[in-house]
Amino acid sequence: MAGTWDLVIRNTTIYDGTGAKPTVGDVAISGDRIAAVGDVSGEGVQEVDARNRALAPGFIDVHSHDDFAVFLTPAMDFKVMQGVTTDVVGNCGMGAAPFPIAVAMFSGLHGRSNVPEWHGYAGYLAEIDRNPPSLNVAALVGHGTVRYSAMGNACREPSAKELDHMRAVVREGLESGAFGMSTGLIYEPGRYARTAEIIELAREANRTGGLYASHMRDEAAHLLDAVRETIHIGEEAGVPVQISHHKASGRENWGLVNESLKLVDEARGRGLDVTADQYPYTSGSTILQAVIQNGGLDEPGDTGAVGTIPPEKLLFASTPKHPEWEGRTLKDLCDQWKLAPRAAGERIAAEEGPGAVVVMETMNEDDVRTVMRHPSTMIGSDGLAMGSRPHPRLYGTFPRVLARYARDAGLMTLEEGVHRMTGMPAAKFGLKERGQVRPGFYADLVIFDPSSLLDTATYDQPRRYPEGLHHVFVNGTAVVRDGLHTGARPGRALRRNS
Ligand SMILES: [Zn+2]
Repeated sequence: MAGTWDLVIRNTTIYDGTGAKPTVGDVAISGDRIAAVGDVSGEGVQEVDARNRALAPGFIDVHSHDDFAVFLTPAMDFKVMQGVTTDVVGNCGMGAAPFPIAVAMFSGLHGRSNVPEWHGYAGYLAEIDRNPPSLNVAALVGHGTVRYSAMGNACREPSAKELDHMRAVVREGLESGAFGMSTGLIYEPGRYARTAEIIELAREANRTGGLYASHMRDEAAHLLDAVRETIHIGEEAGVPVQISHHKASGRENWGLVNESLKLVDEARGRGLDVTADQYPYTSGSTILQAVIQNGGLDEPGDTGAVGTIPPEKLLFASTPKHPEWEGRTLKDLCDQWKLAPRAAGERIAAEEGPGAVVVMETMNEDDVRTVMRHPSTMIGSDGLAMGSRPHPRLYGTFPRVLARYARDAGLMTLEEGVHRMTGMPAAKFGLKERGQVRPGFYADLVIFDPSSLLDTATYDQPRRYPEGLHHVFVNGTAVVRDGLHTGARPGRALRRNS
């Protein structure tokens, strides 16, 4: 029976993505699908012996900002080398359409870069299929991009006509296959939207079955109000909710996640489908302008949405016009210029515009663990693919959770850790026939050594691939073989309800 299957992976320890205990067996692949799991008879055209290695569904990064990166760096090495096989783009209110607005917004991350032009979300997804990256892409409609297209950066409620315009753009996205709508309520122009506007637009997701994901209005002193608003939007619009990068930001707010998780539990008890995502680090990363606008560099005691950030805890990840600032702290530049934090920050923001991206240590390790342990939490990198010193989460998020938090710290079993990045997000986002090792499902698979798996990206040297990750398959094709990127680009645009 030579060549019954395209590929058979033998004697591997299978973590099936459901959270069930692992089993030892074989996995056969035919074309882009998993054909058989267990004791596989018949031979593969190719055979891989994966004794003492773990096999899991490919990881799903539910919180990415790779809308443009998938065209600019289609190998997507920083993601596939850590085992990610599907990226959910369009988070924090920043989406891929309408095109001219998206280009302007993403220019902060990538400069004025050359990408093929597309029309609407239908066009964006078609362009991915025409020009595929190495991993699959699922999109959310970004509310901020939509709002800007209707009313620019206006700080007011939309007129009826503007709201109709926004509704039409959101509907086009959802009907074209987007998996929901996201907001970024600390960013311009999303921060000018009131709750009622968001409910109106989230109702569109109720019609098509998508979810509502939010970078909430406040992750600091008013975290609980922000969680309440998010849950209220989900309940009023009748849509599942995803809290983006669940955290308490700023020393003075540490511990608040215990209360915000209670709000999540209460809402779940009432029947609302609320989950969250998290990156496994005590530092966040965002654009400097947003940090300033939200009071992050003001004197302690002010209650901005990001908490107070000490200047020695704020590091420049990307300052394209002044690469010499990258890797330096704000404290450093304050001392050099003899300026207060806010004044120094404003000077940099004035020169760099939205291109200035920072990494800032605002969280507490106990809080990170508290959120991670909670059953509502799945994993999302929030990585920003830019600059010489990106946050290490761009390269290390998924192995870090499995290695440091599941295996070493014992926060959860390895099967639970795998579930939080595979079966759980696939079910929540509606990624059909993905996220489990199961006959008939797509062959998005990762093979790693559970004893040596480790993230190696650091704040000083972020552009480093993890160790112990051997093979990655996307739709049945190897994109990583023996720890090296193959150059293959078998990714697809995923569409909800198809
Ligand atoms: Zn965000």
